[in-house]
Amino acid sequence: MKPNRSSLTNCCILTIFIFALTSTTLVTVTRAFTTSSILSSASSRTLSSSSSSTSSSLDAVTGVTRNPNFSKLAGGYLFPEIARRRNAYIEAHPDMASRIISLGIGDTTQPIPSHILSGLEQGATKLGTKDGYTGYGAEQGQTLLRQRIASVLYQDRIEPDEVFVSDGAKCDISRLQQVFGSQVITAVQDPSYPVYVDTAVMMGQTGTQDSTTKQYQNIVYMPCTADNQFFPDYASLPRADIVYFCSPNNPTGAAATKEQLTSLVQLCKERGSILVFDAAYAPFIRNPNVPKSIYEIDGAKEVAIEVNSFSKYAGFTGVRLGWTVVPHALKYSDGTPVRNDFNRVMTTAFNGASNIVQSGGLACLDPEGMKEIDTLINYYLENAKLLRETFASIQGYKVFGGTDAPYVFVQLPQGMKSWDAFTHILEKAQVVTIPGAGFGPGGEGYLRLSAFAPRDKIIEACARLKVAL
Ligand code: PLP
Repeated sequence: MKPNRSSLTNCCILTIFIFALTSTTLVTVTRAFTTSSILSSASSRTLSSSSSSTSSSLDAVTGVTRNPNFSKLAGGYLFPEIARRRNAYIEAHPDMASRIISLGIGDTTQPIPSHILSGLEQGATKLGTKDGYTGYGAEQGQTLLRQRIASVLYQDRIEPDEVFVSDGAKCDISRLQQVFGSQVITAVQDPSYPVYVDTAVMMGQTGTQDSTTKQYQNIVYMPCTADNQFFPDYASLPRADIVYFCSPNNPTGAAATKEQLTSLVQLCKERGSILVFDAAYAPFIRNPNVPKSIYEIDGAKEVAIEVNSFSKYAGFTGVRLGWTVVPHALKYSDGTPVRNDFNRVMTTAFNGASNIVQSGGLACLDPEGMKEIDTLINYYLENAKLLRETFASIQGYKVFGGTDAPYVFVQLPQGMKSWDAFTHILEKAQVVTIPGAGFGPGGEGYLRLSAFAPRDKIIEACARLKVAL
């Protein structure tokens, strides 16, 4: 007997209804069970640790305790904070939005030159061919690129297998912190690129930040101001295990001479410190007495790691390619080569830089690529010169840096606070700068200006600054 159509439809509706009811009940029961187990595990942990925080753990979404190192971090990372203030200004003054000129974050603006670009293009094209396709590569980078970095940029002072190619210097600094762990004492230039301090805090190397001095416990701050030509007196400060040193410097624009670096290497050797030398701005060096690499200094291989990057060489800030040199001769107190542990982190927590991008890196190191880099850097250095001249012409302001670096560091008139100067310049000239205090307490009273903007913007900003200040 054929079932009639309406009884079949009724039967289907009933089945769907029962299924829906069962699933809803199941989901509800599962959810209730999960929530109650989270709450009971969170509250039992709370009860055993402290009864005063019971209410906050009841509000918790999960039962996971926050990594306490993160709550020690004071404020957000500097550059998002600058962007936040700039956006707040635009929101309050929408008519000014198109007038904003950014001399803040050190991001490149000029297009990638043609030969270097062709390297990136070839890298991508190869991936579409049977013979040229490659998948995962060596975590340490392509052999040819490591060889070319060692020969072209270091004149074979280092071995290719001491070079680790990466996705950039910032990431490498963080991976170095992973290698050093939570028990080391870190020293930084004050002011300095914020990544050294913030990653040290995240790793648990520090105590909390003192609200008055704005310094973290367990970090050795090495003042670098106009009074000491922006070069630290490490000998007069407590010993640190790891000393971060950046030359040419972000933010001060100071570039350490051969004599200064020789004394620093010597001192690190005497005190048994490891020097992490950040050479991200090396291509800006024009002074022949300023080394482009720490390995130009005798004995540096036994104390120094160098982090570096194609970001500022070739406008690769968005492309992402860097490298770190860890010499075989650099050893821990028990004789273990530091390189072994860095290699372990690179092979475990990193999977190699993009093969397309490494092809771009190889093009950078061709003679044509190196010529293009020089032209690009000269353009930014000319911008820096215009910024220097502008501040030199404004009474009460003193200007530093900008000759072997893309950053101009301006000393404000006596008593002027750097965040106040930042706000004043944003409001009166619609120019975004970076307050020196954002780079550490030693930067108070200074302002950093980046020369990475397009030339017409630099000229316009200089004209406005002369009127506003
Ligand atoms: N080191 C310093 C001193 C920097 O100023 C920067 C970026 O501004 C970096 C490293 C980051 O380089 P990368 O783009 O390779 O991560």
